[in-house]
Amino acid sequence: MSEALPATEVVIKPRTCAEAEGTLRYWVRSNTVLNRRYLVDLAMFNGNGLCACKHSQIRCQKLLKRGISPQEAVEKGLINLKEGHKVYDALRCDHILEARSAFLDELLPRMVALEKQRQGNTHVA
Ligand SMILES: [Zn+2]
Repeated sequence: MSEALPATEVVIKPRTCAEAEGTLRYWVRSNTVLNRRYLVDLAMFNGNGLCACKHSQIRCQKLLKRGISPQEAVEKGLINLKEGHKVYDALRCDHILEARSAFLDELLPRMVALEKQRQGNTHVA
């Protein structure tokens, strides 16, 4: 993933520290290093997501490029499942999980609005 992408300033939202850049790209602050942030692209690897952090770039990307599923990676001991992580998140770092959460926070209200609109249209017809 290129670091040459146009950067926007990280603005801390009240409920998250992931800030969108484009539809599926997010800047996510490091939990361990002050003033460090990582670019997450949720579209990479068919929606698994890829992050610029070392864990994602070195461990996860290598397995994803080989077509190894998260479940296979765990079962074969290719990756250690972090405590509290689900098997299907085995090839996602904490930054990707945070970006996915921010994405859902943006998407769900829109989906709810669309559903209300659809229901409203149904009543009219
Ligand atoms: Zn990461």
